[in-house]
Parts: sequence; structure tokens; C-alpha cells
Amino acid sequence: MIIDCHGHFTTAPDAHENYWTELMESSGSLPSAPIISDDAIAEALTGNQLRVAAQRGIDLTLLSPKASAMGHHVPDGRIARAWSEAANDLVLRAADLFPEALAAVCQLPQYPGAEVGGLVDELTRCVEAGAVGVNINPDPSGGLWSSPAITDRYWYPLFEVMSELSIPGMIHVSGSCLENVHTLGAFYLHADTTVFMQMIMGDLFEEFPDLRIVIPHGGGAVPYHWGRFKGLAARLERPPIENLLENVYFDTAVYHQPGIDMLVEVVGLDNLLFSSEMLGAVRGADPKTGIDYDNTLHYLKSLLGESESLERVCAVNPRVVYPRLDA
Ligand SMILES: [Zn+2]
Repeated sequence: MIIDCHGHFTTAPDAHENYWTELMESSGSLPSAPIISDDAIAEALTGNQLRVAAQRGIDLTLLSPKASAMGHHVPDGRIARAWSEAANDLVLRAADLFPEALAAVCQLPQYPGAEVGGLVDELTRCVEAGAVGVNINPDPSGGLWSSPAITDRYWYPLFEVMSELSIPGMIHVSGSCLENVHTLGAFYLHADTTVFMQMIMGDLFEEFPDLRIVIPHGGGAVPYHWGRFKGLAARLERPPIENLLENVYFDTAVYHQPGIDMLVEVVGLDNLLFSSEMLGAVRGADPKTGIDYDNTLHYLKSLLGESESLERVCAVNPRVVYPRLDA
């Protein structure tokens, strides 16, 4: 069984995309979410996400709302809630329509300065409706890093509920608000790297030993700079970074063979989760190899073959990190 732990509903029906515009243009009371039929949701998935997954041999995808469109930078709790509910309802319904192929991961109604205790009822609602994971935005401001570090007590109400519910969190920022910081090519990777360094500096997992965090996009710059982080941990008199591997996992959304090879060598098989993040940041094939950039299963198979190691990354580890998949 091949489980892709990182997919986004990037081809949602237009009515959903338009709802964001309606929310942004509203004054006074907010417009209601659009009524979207099951057929429209199914059509938006079968020609895209599900077709490519089937072609590549991916059995199950953990589908969350489009990450760059989470809209967390808007400092309005009512809009954050209305939009998150609409976006989460869409992935929950998608998972209900295709229970063999999709499982839902939710976003949170975050905004800069939000009280974290106010986010958890949406998480609980989604988990009760079948969500198996949650995306946590460590910087809802969209690049200003105005929130406390992910290890700060500020976030504890969320981690308490995640621990209670056995829900892992994927660290995932949304759109960059800075014109000179590209969302997909710079901000995502920067956030992945930044949060790992925050975890070196903080004591998050002493407080929450059962909490599991996934750093996507192959961990940003972390695997490539593993020695820098090891050395910094020693210099700052922090515990060895290997301790973090009790709770922190990396996904395989790295879009070339040497990147995957290094990820497996540095991070190791026990802390890797197969992901392709499709249909996501990069589309099309590398003209040099003819392989789709985001066909990470191809790269993994090239390295590991049809082996027990491949099974571990694609099926065993995901079920350990996302225990609600079995439920
Ligand atoms: Zn993503």
C-alpha cells in the first residue's frame, strides 16, 4: 500500500475559490459558503488528483485544503473561521466520496495574533468528521514571523488537543505577503527550516512526548545542512538533534533524485513519510529525465526498489504517524 501524506485540493471547484473573493469584498455580515454538489467535487478530483495518483500507483492521499490559499494573513477571526470551515468541509466531503483514495487533513482558522485556544474547536470538529491530521501555520502573518516560536507556550492549547486526539501536525505556511519572497520556492522551504531550528532551541517534546510533527518539502534546508544544525545544537548547549527524531518526521516532497537519495541517507528511513505534494508547486517533467518533477515515488523506487524499506516509508511510517488512518 502506498500512502501519500501530503496532497492539497488545488483543483477545487470555482465556486469555492470565488468564496474567498466574496469574503474579502464583504462588509458587515459575511456571505454564506457556496453550495457545491458532490458531482462538482468528484469531477474536480477524478480528472486531476485521483487520475495522477492512480497512474503512479498511489493508493491513498492525505488531502488538505490548498495551502497557499489558507488566507491566514487576513487579521479577521470571522473570515478565518468561515473560510477554514468551507475549505475543510470540501476535503472532508472529498474523503467521504472517495474513502479508499483520500483521507482528510484540515487547516486551522488562524490569523496573526489569534488566540490558539480558539482554534481547537475547528480541529475537534474536523477530527470528529474524519480528519486524520492538521496543517499548522507557524507564521500566519505570511512572512513577518510575528507569532511566537512553535515551541512557545502560546501554542500549547493546540498541542494538548492534538496529543489527546492522536493527531499529528504538518508544519505548513500559506501565501507569502512579501513581494520578494516567493511562496512556493522560498517561503515554504524557509518556514520548514526555521521551525526545525525553533525545535532545536525549545523543549516542545519534553512537554508533549506523544506529539508528532511532520516537516514537509523534505525538511527545507535541514537535511542538506544537517551538520550545521548538529553543530549549532552543541554550541548552544542543546540536546543532540537526533533526539528530535523521536517526534519529528520529514516528507519526501523533494523533486529530484539526488535530493531523495540524500534525504534517505541523512534523515533515515524511520523518519521519512512518502509524499509528492501533488498537484502542487511544480508541474510537468524534467526535460533531462522525462520524469515528472513531483513523481517522488519514482525516485524512491529508483533508490529503494520494491523493498521492505519502500514499504516502511510508504505504508508503515504513515500509519505510525497518522494512527487515525486505521480507525
Ligand atoms: Zn503542501
